Amino acid sequence: MIPSGLLFAIAAQVPSGPAPAAPPPVPPAPPYWQQRLRYEITATLDETRGTLGGAQRVVYFNNSPDTLYTFALHLYLNAFRPGSRWADADSAEGRRRFNDLRDPDYGYNRIGDVRIMGQAVAAAYPFAPDSTIARFLLPRPAAPGDSFAIELEWEARPSTLPRRQGRRGRHYDFAQWYPRVVAYDRYGWQEHPLYPAGEFYGDFGDFSVTLDLPEDQVVGATGVPVCGDPGWDRANRNPARRVELGREVYGPVTCDAGAPAAGRKRILWLARDVHHFALSMNPDYRYEGGRFGDVLVHVLYRPGDERSWGGGTAVRNTEEALSWLDGLFGPFPWPQITNVHRIEGGGTEFPMMVHNGSPGLGLILHEVGHNYLMGILANNEWKEGWLDEGFTSFQTSWYDEAHGRDGGYRALEWNMLRSDLDGWSEPASRAGEHFRDFSTYNSMIYDRGELFFHQLRAIVGDSAMRAILRTYYQRWKLKHVDEAAFREVAEEVSGRDLRALFGQWLHGTHLYDYAVGRVEVGRTDGRSGGQPEGSEYLTRVEVVRRAPGVFPVSVAVRSRGGDSARARLDGTAEREWVTLATRERPFEVELDPEIRSHDWNVLNNRKRRGLLGFRRAPRTMVYLDQFFSRPIRRDGFSVGMVPTIWYNDEGGVTLGARLRSDYLGRFEQNTGWLTLDTRRLAETDRPGIGVFLRVQNPVRFLRPRVTQSFEAFSVEGRRGLAAAAERDLTRHRTFGARRAVGIEARWLVTTNTRFLDPASWDAGGTVEASAWSRLAGRWGAWSVAGRISLGGGIEYRNRGEGLSTRDRYDAQAYFRGHGELRARRGLGASAGLSVRIFAGGLFSPDAALKQRQFFAAGADPYEQFGNPLLRSRGAVLARDGVHYLMPGGGGVRGLNPAVSAARMVAVGGELDRSVFTRNQGTWLRGIRVAAFTDWAIGDGDLPADARGAAIIGDAGVGLRLAHRIGDTFFTTRLDFPLYVSRPDLAVNASERAIGARWVLSFTNER
Ligand SMILES: [Zn+2]
Repeated sequence: MIPSGLLFAIAAQVPSGPAPAAPPPVPPAPPYWQQRLRYEITATLDETRGTLGGAQRVVYFNNSPDTLYTFALHLYLNAFRPGSRWADADSAEGRRRFNDLRDPDYGYNRIGDVRIMGQAVAAAYPFAPDSTIARFLLPRPAAPGDSFAIELEWEARPSTLPRRQGRRGRHYDFAQWYPRVVAYDRYGWQEHPLYPAGEFYGDFGDFSVTLDLPEDQVVGATGVPVCGDPGWDRANRNPARRVELGREVYGPVTCDAGAPAAGRKRILWLARDVHHFALSMNPDYRYEGGRFGDVLVHVLYRPGDERSWGGGTAVRNTEEALSWLDGLFGPFPWPQITNVHRIEGGGTEFPMMVHNGSPGLGLILHEVGHNYLMGILANNEWKEGWLDEGFTSFQTSWYDEAHGRDGGYRALEWNMLRSDLDGWSEPASRAGEHFRDFSTYNSMIYDRGELFFHQLRAIVGDSAMRAILRTYYQRWKLKHVDEAAFREVAEEVSGRDLRALFGQWLHGTHLYDYAVGRVEVGRTDGRSGGQPEGSEYLTRVEVVRRAPGVFPVSVAVRSRGGDSARARLDGTAEREWVTLATRERPFEVELDPEIRSHDWNVLNNRKRRGLLGFRRAPRTMVYLDQFFSRPIRRDGFSVGMVPTIWYNDEGGVTLGARLRSDYLGRFEQNTGWLTLDTRRLAETDRPGIGVFLRVQNPVRFLRPRVTQSFEAFSVEGRRGLAAAAERDLTRHRTFGARRAVGIEARWLVTTNTRFLDPASWDAGGTVEASAWSRLAGRWGAWSVAGRISLGGGIEYRNRGEGLSTRDRYDAQAYFRGHGELRARRGLGASAGLSVRIFAGGLFSPDAALKQRQFFAAGADPYEQFGNPLLRSRGAVLARDGVHYLMPGGGGVRGLNPAVSAARMVAVGGELDRSVFTRNQGTWLRGIRVAAFTDWAIGDGDLPADARGAAIIGDAGVGLRLAHRIGDTFFTTRLDFPLYVSRPDLAVNASERAIGARWVLSFTNER
């Protein structure tokens, strides 16, 4: 639809369309060269030992301008054994995998009888004990233009725990299985041990591989089976389509591999212009074939895959991927592609071959895409992983978008924004093993990498993006590529200076924030030069850049009637003006309406005209709040409104309305709550009004991994102010302990004691500051969470109501500290043991206010104050006969909730067993039965005779019902403390130690 008004920008002032500036001259690159290899491999599979071994001869052509003195091989399978850098990196992140494997389960590569230039040489292992790199001294230097031969014997065994490679029964996935020559480029020999983060890099060459295998093995590989039988005919499941081996693609071949032993066969494979040769074999493989143009498609799947892989599905998906990529980049340069169902899930790419865990189109697009982005455009995958993983993720997403599906940009961008805002992001340009951990590597290389290409496409537009991809491919296919090669093409084709994008997206983790500044509206005089005909209003918009990130930013001006105008700025200025003309009077100005600039704070992106001129007006979605979930938005505020109603004895039925807002699930999580009592209060003879205001994480206080909150309230006989901040000190998102520290300052004073339960509250106020530290993690079989808090302040008491003065206080200082440790471990599949230890001490010259003491049964009154169903006398959960207990404090759940002490140590234990679980559903997701006992020692109410400390305890059984409502998981805990050692302090049935008692709690445990 075209808007009713005109749609234009004023070209003279708005640089849009072509480049804002010509790219700076790039210093001439040194002439490009690459080494060349010729592999001749003969290999025999020994299934009893799980090994493939034989001889290898490589002819090495030194095309570099350098004289070579050393030579190096990758022995990649040595990563999948104990003591390797890979195994150690796994262990450091809590993945005990290859360090746990024993013979014959671990993988290895062994070499022997190595001869270079005809002379025996000895291997050195520069990264020992890792042995994935073997280095040799050349017997004599190899000058530029020289070639020389390397000959050796080798043996390879995949590991039984699959990772890219693997073996299971008679199924073998061979990836990186032969001694592979290390790439030599302008930075020298790329000797790099194999880590979990970061992949491969190799020089191009030709392969001639002769395999000696049991006769019944069905094999797929990089290359073409020019001699011998790969077993496809026998395995073919599509009788309508004859198996095409494509034997002639490399010209005539003489098959003289010699006669195999009885029960064995020999196959000769040839591959040209590839930097790796992969294999997979399984006597049970089923075969289906297809083709895209001249490219043969071979699919090998496993028994049981007939409905998922078979019936042409995997073949069609592979053909579809080839077709899409052909359109995006250009023709596939190799004669075939083989797609096999490997042992491991996920997928891995190899030249002319993909090893996949499933036949889905998304995975196949990604992995076949790697044949272009890694196989043909051969980047160094451990140095610049974004250039293959990010790129192929991007093209997969573009495919989805081009086919009317969600390409996933929004979800990805939002996730990355969270990561950027909380300081988890690292520059995508890092070498694989230099990221903080494997999970950061994955999200930066794949997701941030993908976003980089989306951002580039947003800047240059679709047609220029297509031209960039085609030019990049034409210029660099079958060569080594890097960021500079890609940027040069992108700048040349788009005619734009892309320094900011490449620099910031790949080498930084910048935040972006554009804001609407001043807005001025004027009238045209009808004949002012340069204005499009018919325009009457000129809107000048100030665009302010508030963060280091630079990205082109769209500016839109709209009228109420649907007229609009739009412009795009290059976004580099910290402050600039743009003028837009409209026929109708402008009503609204908005920056980046589609949110393509990764702008973290869109709350300052829109202004609307009001009585006082243009005012900030963020997009806002109002919804009826249902308490258990909170819709969150990327493009503005979500505001939940809900009427509330509850009861307490003093105010009667209390009517209210609550508003709570959110932005990004992270910011402006503010609450406003207004309540009105329906009963006149005895003190004032008027219904009380309650106000609660809370501001949490305002955008202006953005700090990574810090949350702040500020409160002011006057509610049900209490008034106060509070401010708190907590900083998350967790070092890794996916493993290790979770840590946080926090501080809080709070003033809280009672103003009307008639709301208060005198058993838990004294009249008085406190000004208190505290600091805390939290820790949670796993130690062996135990999940442990602990918290310690230290603080203190001044408390003051009213002289008492009705006495001569109301403004004199008894005041005293106090210190208050407490700590809690919870631990839980599983006992078998469905049972568990939980232990909780609590200690608290309150020190003051005279007895402290009741509400600051520690409560033996549960949470203290300040903790309960946030819950309107609990905080005042007669409230729904605080009524006589409702034995509700908010968990916390000493945790001796059989006690009356008002039992308190100034100093207390408590310990509780619980055994539970699951009797019902389901992962779906809301109201009931699980039932557990439990037996517990809790004990505390302390002063205050605990001793019967007020002398010294006393021990008090309970024991009983319980029921736990797990629920999920909306996004909220919680558990209803029903406890029956049948035994209480001091029945006079029990929650009910206080005549005898053994009695029928019950206590209800809600907890946020799962
Ligand atoms: Zn990938």
